[in-house]
Amino acid sequence: VKKFEFKLQKKKGAMRAGVMTTARGEVQTPVFMPVGTAATIKSLDTKDINDLQAQIILTNTYHLYLRPGIDILNQHGGAGKFMGWDKPMLTDSGGFQVFSLGRQRGANNSKVKLSDEGAEFTSHLDGSKHFFSPEDAIEIQRQIGADIIMTFDECVSDSEEKSYVKKSLEKTHSWAKRCYQFWEQNKRKSAYGEYQALFGIIQGAMYQDLREESAKFITSMDFDGIAVGGETIGYNMAGTKEVAGWLEKILPENKPRYAMGLGRDPENLVTAIKLGFDMFDCVGPTRLARNGSLFHGNLDLSDKNSADLGPNFVSDYPSGRLNISNRKFANDQKVIQEGCDCYTCTSGYTRSYLHHLYKAKELSYYRFASIHNVRFMIRLSQEMRSYILS
Ligand SMILES: [Zn+2]
Repeated sequence: VKKFEFKLQKKKGAMRAGVMTTARGEVQTPVFMPVGTAATIKSLDTKDINDLQAQIILTNTYHLYLRPGIDILNQHGGAGKFMGWDKPMLTDSGGFQVFSLGRQRGANNSKVKLSDEGAEFTSHLDGSKHFFSPEDAIEIQRQIGADIIMTFDECVSDSEEKSYVKKSLEKTHSWAKRCYQFWEQNKRKSAYGEYQALFGIIQGAMYQDLREESAKFITSMDFDGIAVGGETIGYNMAGTKEVAGWLEKILPENKPRYAMGLGRDPENLVTAIKLGFDMFDCVGPTRLARNGSLFHGNLDLSDKNSADLGPNFVSDYPSGRLNISNRKFANDQKVIQEGCDCYTCTSGYTRSYLHHLYKAKELSYYRFASIHNVRFMIRLSQEMRSYILS
């Protein structure tokens, strides 16, 4: 395709089902995007990712820039070719990692220096100094060659004073404009000549007027999609709901809505779809899997009265997580979840076996667990899509 397209197919209440067409293929929404930080979804290979029915994966600009470095990716023809993934990919701009580094070090002893020109930061790998301008962030994403790229922004903490958030927002908006212009100068194409969709990011922390101002500014530009960022999104679902409520009337119907970093718990994903978001990503499912938390639960489609409100996620376990390290699973011969269509469950690997592998820190555990959790989130988004289309 020459250009990115998004078609809204159906709405049910605030819930949306659509199809995005990117340079490397179609993506049916709502969609959960597994995170492959360093050009790999930890413990999985590309065949596994395909088997999970992942339609699009995310990789991180900051991490790929530092290692293996942009030259290596460029010589492969981009990150997709580097990792053997020929389907759609999205890259973040590095803004979130820059923000996380700054927070780890505290406000006054920061590893990050922000100016109107960009962000200077210290590599977490070797302490070397680097600088990203908004143009640099786009250029690096051009070299990575993803189908969807993001503007460079400052992701501010909810605990910041309003005066700081206001100033930060001005910077984020001026960077968004510079990213947009740089993208236009490059004819909206990657270093390999393919169309790259650019999404703008709405910030503004937990201030309604700033969120609205940001939404108006970002939607006034011809971005291909609209993302909502910030510390709250995905980590504080009450706050996420509040923000979504403020933005609802401002967001255009005909552009995909991406809730950045949202998708740690199955319930969050269902909630966010009911808030009208189309795209989600989170390292949570793989990270939780590695720590012994395996998803368990179902969509409850029985309450016909709530057709517009949508189904709820129900589980026998808190946050939908079964803790495989628990002794009670030592001789439990059931699979993780009856009816789950993931490779781990359909192959008949028991909770007892997974408990053993986890306790013994066997490497195969990480693959079995990650396959289940990621497939769980993808299946949940597929089931929500079917529900919306039904
Ligand atoms: Zn499973």
